Amino acid sequence: PFQSQFEAQSAAVRVRFGAGVRHRIEEEIDRLGCIRALVLSTPPQADSAMDMAASLNGKAAGVFTKAAMHTPVDVTAEAVAHATSVDADCLVALGGGSTTGLGKAVAYRTDLPQIVIPTTYAGSEATAILGQTEDGVKTTVTDPKIQPEVILYDPELVVTLPVAMTVTSALNAMAHAAEALYAVNRNPVSTMLAIEGLSAFKRALPKVIDNPQDIEARGETLYGAWLCGTVLGQVGMALHHKLCHTLGGSFDLPHAETHAVVLPHAIAYNARAVADLLQPICDIFGGTNAGQSLHTFANTVGAPMALKDLGLEEGDLDRTADLAVSKPYPNPRPVERDAIRTLLQVAWAGDPPV
Ligand code: NAD
Repeated sequence: PFQSQFEAQSAAVRVRFGAGVRHRIEEEIDRLGCIRALVLSTPPQADSAMDMAASLNGKAAGVFTKAAMHTPVDVTAEAVAHATSVDADCLVALGGGSTTGLGKAVAYRTDLPQIVIPTTYAGSEATAILGQTEDGVKTTVTDPKIQPEVILYDPELVVTLPVAMTVTSALNAMAHAAEALYAVNRNPVSTMLAIEGLSAFKRALPKVIDNPQDIEARGETLYGAWLCGTVLGQVGMALHHKLCHTLGGSFDLPHAETHAVVLPHAIAYNARAVADLLQPICDIFGGTNAGQSLHTFANTVGAPMALKDLGLEEGDLDRTADLAVSKPYPNPRPVERDAIRTLLQVAWAGDPPV
């Protein structure tokens, strides 16, 4: 349906895309007017971070390899102290959403410019949103200082992402686009980005699963991740993200896997209210119900299908429902406790969405 009224805003972000583009990072440091980059990674990606630092012709001031899931504030404090002690003038984050999150958390506190080189499809690099954890509580803050200035998308870096993580990370990205279709503050451009992002994953994800080394297909999925992340940075998220934040925050379920399981169910729930806005999902994935369409696609690509397989106890479903309906995000269909409890039961068992 044509949208007759809207507001739109997009961030000033420089993007370079292509196989091998990571080798251009020194140019990007120069372009920022910087000479002392602090390279960030998780512990498993420390070797790559060291190699990258070594390739910067003396423009690496240091390497900090302790990025962790959900951006714990004590790790951030250590990274800020490290950045200060080596007199860093910019940040280079090499990794997935956890490493990007650390870079954003340091930038939020220091206003250092950021170059992000994503190695998953999470899309955090394209948003001004930071989620961080203190004493087991995850909070979210949005600030222009958090928005990374430069993103280098290099498909060659994503080939090492194991197939199972490839699938869940892709569905994590697709969830941003799916919810963007009915976001209260959507606009025609965010809708176009969402549709193209979903289409890119539909086209390329099966090829990547067939051959994880396929650089062309990896590139197309990374392109999808850029679009889906950009959309996440432009519009508000709804029921699906609320459910995932509840399950991740209060029950410690893994981030991308939870998105993969919940997505078809949350979309089926909202399709009852806004089937017209979700029609692009049926057009792209086939079928007549957007939730079913996504369920079939997720099944085809071998995604996890049940919350019980992610470690959630059946006895936790009542509390999950209570938490999910408290302080709900704006949602196109009223978020009702009984209906959400049913949704959770079905998602827990791994049955098709209702
Ligand atoms: P992740 O960054 O935690 O990565 C998971 C693991 O995979 C890590 O051990 C990492 O080192 C490894 N890894 C990453 N890329 C790899 C590759 N190419 N090859 C081999 N191993 C690789 O996982 P994620 O799903 O990318 O990020 C999840 C985090 O990002 C969550 O904390 C989530 O809240 C956050 N996030 C934030 C936003 C935002 O806009 N603020 C958006 C999306 C996700």
